[in-house]
Amino acid sequence: MLSCSKTYKDIPFSHRQPFHSGNCSKIHGHNWSITIEFTAQKLDKNGFVVDFGKLKYLKQFINEKLDHSCLFSKDDNKVKSLSESIHKDLFKIIWVENSSCEGIAKYLYTNFSNLLREHEGDRVSIRSICLHEDEKNAVCYCP
Ligand SMILES: [Zn+2]
Repeated sequence: MLSCSKTYKDIPFSHRQPFHSGNCSKIHGHNWSITIEFTAQKLDKNGFVVDFGKLKYLKQFINEKLDHSCLFSKDDNKVKSLSESIHKDLFKIIWVENSSCEGIAKYLYTNFSNLLREHEGDRVSIRSICLHEDEKNAVCYCP
């Protein structure tokens, strides 16, 4: 089995933890980085695990769902009521199951795996997603 990884850096977006007792409950942003580890039993005809030049659909997902977005937990009722009263162009809200770094890593794993399967079939899969909140904190999701 071979693996390779691709990193997307400096993606600005915000989130909050609705049940946190400290600063994480405030809406705040980070400059996120995502490292995706791909794995394959069999290489493609070029000898690649995955062709890095053909991952534009992942970059497109990042641009549409993460870049300058606000990721909030589906059960965040305060943000839900706020979002109903504000101008829609002020925030690009993306609702996720859980907006913790862990929850977002899982969200990316699920969506990136689906996109990869659509474009590459079953030959290659994602082994892990490592999500960095700025430079100091990171979470890796590898089911
Ligand atoms: Zn944070």
